[in-house]
Amino acid sequence: MQKYDLPEGMRYATLEERKGFYLEEFDLAKVAAWFGERLVNVKFAVIIGRHTRIFPEKYRDDADTTIIIDEYKDLSDVREQIIEFLPESAYYDRNVYDANDHKTGQELAFDLDPENVTCPIHGSLADKMRRGQGLSFCSLELDMVKQQALSLHEELEKEFSHLKIVYSGRGFHIHVFDEEAYTLKERERREIARSMKRKGFAIDEWVTAGEMRLIRLPFSLHGLVSRIAVPLEKSELERFDPVSDERCIPQFLRG
Ligand SMILES: [Zn+2]
Repeated sequence: MQKYDLPEGMRYATLEERKGFYLEEFDLAKVAAWFGERLVNVKFAVIIGRHTRIFPEKYRDDADTTIIIDEYKDLSDVREQIIEFLPESAYYDRNVYDANDHKTGQELAFDLDPENVTCPIHGSLADKMRRGQGLSFCSLELDMVKQQALSLHEELEKEFSHLKIVYSGRGFHIHVFDEEAYTLKERERREIARSMKRKGFAIDEWVTAGEMRLIRLPFSLHGLVSRIAVPLEKSELERFDPVSDERCIPQFLRG
């Protein structure tokens, strides 16, 4: 039984569907292109069944756990480990590490989620939480959060020049790849998060401030909504509709 209300066509993916996706569809060339030269000592992570409660029986005790994948030969090896766990979600660590596993920086990112916008029908996040629907969202909220992603991108363009937008399966992420953003201090990150929040953006401050360092892996499957996380050009964002856009709909829903 699905616990959260989702836009039409979005639903939990089954274990078989997760498996089919990572075997057939998960595009490692695109993942490699996403990281480019940054693919050095990157840590990946999975959560098997925290929200969906769908997990391989042998991982019942670890269904909630964030499992870090930091020992692998190459991306194919990462994929094999993902297939072993068949997770609802896959992430990477925005921290940058040197060969001795010391943190040398962190990618700056902004996370806009539909539950954080106040919906004329479903109310605020607090209203949704009260009904136990903290992860539910509707197409109206999806559209509002898309408009927010557009204006946040415009806001960030004033400061930074290497920005990437990713449709995350639920909302949108904006990644900042400018070199100087990697070395921002914690205090500076918190300040940026706060100032964007003050400007009215429904961002998750934890992500921008850096406490939450994991971010959804582009081109992976979001198992709560059965959508593929895909990078988008800013110019595509206005017309992008995750309910119907083929790029983010996995084969098992395309029939
Ligand atoms: Zn709503």
